[in-house]
Order: sequence, then C-alpha cells, then structure tokens
Amino acid sequence: MSDLYLKGIKETDPEVFETLKNELERQQNQIELIASENIASLSTLNAQGSIMTNKYAEGYPGRRYYGGCEYVDKAEEIALERVKKLFDCKFANLQPHSGAQANQAVFLALLNPNDTFLGMSLASGGHLTHGAKPNISGKWFNAIQYGVKKDGNDKDLIDYDEVESLALEHKPKIIIAGASAYPRFIDWEKFRNICDKVGAYFMVDMAHYSGLIAGKQYPNPIPYADVVTSTTHKTLRGARSAMILTNNEDIYKKINSAVFPGLQGGPLMHVMAAKAVSFGEALKPEFKEYSKNVILNAKILSETLVKRGFRVVTGGTDSHIVWLDLTPKNLTGDKAEKILEEVGLACNKNAIPYDPNPPKITSGLRFGTAAATSRGFNENDFRKVGEMISDMLDSLQFSEDEKRKVFDNTRKNILEMCNLYPIYKEAF
Ligand SMILES: *Cc1c(COP(=O)(O)O)cnc(C)c1O
Repeated sequence: MSDLYLKGIKETDPEVFETLKNELERQQNQIELIASENIASLSTLNAQGSIMTNKYAEGYPGRRYYGGCEYVDKAEEIALERVKKLFDCKFANLQPHSGAQANQAVFLALLNPNDTFLGMSLASGGHLTHGAKPNISGKWFNAIQYGVKKDGNDKDLIDYDEVESLALEHKPKIIIAGASAYPRFIDWEKFRNICDKVGAYFMVDMAHYSGLIAGKQYPNPIPYADVVTSTTHKTLRGARSAMILTNNEDIYKKINSAVFPGLQGGPLMHVMAAKAVSFGEALKPEFKEYSKNVILNAKILSETLVKRGFRVVTGGTDSHIVWLDLTPKNLTGDKAEKILEEVGLACNKNAIPYDPNPPKITSGLRFGTAAATSRGFNENDFRKVGEMISDMLDSLQFSEDEKRKVFDNTRKNILEMCNLYPIYKEAF
C-alpha cells in the first residue's frame, strides 16, 4: 500500500486504483468492529505485495521442486523459527492458504471419508469448517456437533458434559475445540481428558484467539492439543493466511504431506514473507500490551452495553469478542447490523445460542475490538463506542426527526474519532 505500489496501479489501472483508494478511505472513516478483522502493518502489506509473488516453491525449505529457492527458503525459515517461538511449539507448517484449508489439511492427514469427528456447532458459535452441513467437513465426514448450555448458572458456556457423552457415544477420531463467536476461555485440559477417554486426537482451531495467545493473554492450547490450526490475520494481525502447529513429529509429517502434495500446489511465498514480518511484530513486547488492551477494551464495551440494557451472551468476555443478544430490545441482527453500518460502525449479525430467528436474520451481533485497538482506540474510546451503539439501536423507537438527530450526531462523532487515529498515515 506504500506510494510505490499505489502509484504504479494509479498509472496502469486507474479503475482498480479507484477501488483501492475508496477501500482505504472506508477503512479510515469507519470503526471496524468485525471480530475476525484487523489492521495489518504497512510492512506486512508491503511484504505481501512483494516480488516473492513471482516465485514457485512447491515443497519445503531445502526440499523444493524448483530452482532459485534460496531466498524464499530463507523467508520460510525465518517465519517458522518465529512462529515456533511465539507459540512455544516444536513443529509448524505455514503453507495453508487460509484457515479453512488448514482444517482440511488436518482432516486429510488424520481422517478417512465418512470417519466420525466431533466439533462445535455453528449455531453455538463454532465455525463452518467444524462440521456444518453445507461445508465439506459436514458433507464428507460424519460430523457430530456439540453446543453450549441452554440455561442454568453456566448458560451459554460450552457444555463439557455433552462433549463427553457425545464422545463416549460416537467414538470420534478427532474432537475439535475452537470457535468464531465464543468469547470465553476454552478449557483445553478438559477437552484433552475427554479425548484421552475415547482415544481421539485433540485438534484446536485457535483462529480467533491466536493473537491473544501470542500475547500471553489467553491460554495456549499447544501443551494439550495434538494439532493446532489458526488463521494469521485475525487477532494475530498478520498476513491473510493460516498455519498448523504441533508438538508431535508423526502428526507433523502427516500434516506436511497433506498440505503438499495432498491439498495444495505452490505455497504463496509473498504471503510467507508477510507472515515472517508479522510474527516478528508479534514477538515484540508491544504486542503483549496490544493484546492486553484488546481484551480490556472488549470488557469495557461489554460492560457499557450491559449498562444500557442489552444482554451479552455468556455475560461478558475473556477475549476480543463481545457477543450481543438483541432480544431484550426486540431487535434482530440483520436490522441492527444495517443501521450501525450506516453511521460507520462495522460489525456482523450473528446467531445467538438457541436463536429463535433464522441465520439470515438472527437475534444477535458480534463485535470485536482487535482492529480498532490496533489503530489506538483506548478504554474511553470503547466506552464511547458502546454508548454510540446503544444510542443508535435505541433511536429506532424514536420519531424520524429524533432518529435523524441521533444519526447525524453519531456519524459526526465517529468521523472525529477516526480522524484522531489515522491508519496507514504513510499512504495518505
Ligand atoms: C476464520 C476462521 C476460519 C477460516 O479461516 P479462513 O481464512 O476464512 O478460511 C476457520 N476456523 C475458525 C475458528 C475461524 O474463526
């Protein structure tokens, strides 16, 4: 995104240049609350847009099927060394192109078609690739799904008793922990014990939490899991990509063959270089501060929304995620998402556990604090964000005139806050 790259595009392709420029402005002028997004550093973007785009490097460092790999080998080795330090693990594969592909590679390595595995249901905050029906994971395997408690003291929390009884009943080959909307710590040890009872592999998909884990603010699953997958672009704030980690050498070898040649061809070496850069950033002490602030900000946002009469799923958060239940306000997720987007608060509708509304409507919203914290938003800012979200959603009951007032005022405040925290200063 540096001048160098944008200038080239401006001259050769003004049409696409326009979309890049507009996207930059959109990101600058709105508050990004989508929990899976972040704002990568300019160095990460530049490495990702670099000359390594041109290189084919099928295979692994030192064992490639192409010549001329000495420098891309070095980039992959740096990335590997850094990621192993970051998560305190023995082996890593950094070639999966995305989180979904990392999960597919684990299935290819450890399962046969129609084998049984156990994963968290999408409806309870799990991910599509953990066995949802429309996904390959739900089509090609016998995916059994666990969820969260419907009521009681531990309402909305993972139902570990259900995980255990489903495991005993179905004898899955893999049990997956990890989620996309679940805001709390997951008890890796409990899952490990259940896996041991039934002889299942324990797989953790830490896509959402990996930055918080790198920053030592969320429990590291590495000591408990047989294999860990993750995206690298969510809280980890890196290149758009993924990875697979393990301490088990046998599994490591199977994973390597599954990723290449099992599932993919040439790795994206420009993305590899960008991963190396972002892992280097995550190793710095500042990143620990950053992840602390991400969680602190999420707690403030959650408290503010609760004070304003909303319910937060699980009652709070241990992570970057705030999972809002709109039912106390008689609102639906699709409507709320649209109204917030109009003033520049970007978030997504999300089903809540046992949601009475269909997935296209939903009764909830999912917020995340990782992106705005990256640009500098602090506790006070997030208190304001919580108030603005509440003002906007409450204004739906007002007259058109009053609604307009709240809308204009909120939009003005958001632009002021965004101006205080510019992104990619060098690119403006
Ligand atoms: C985001 C996410 C993925 C998928 O990552 P993509 O890079 O979008 O394919 C997988 N698992 C979990 C838990 C996620 O949150």
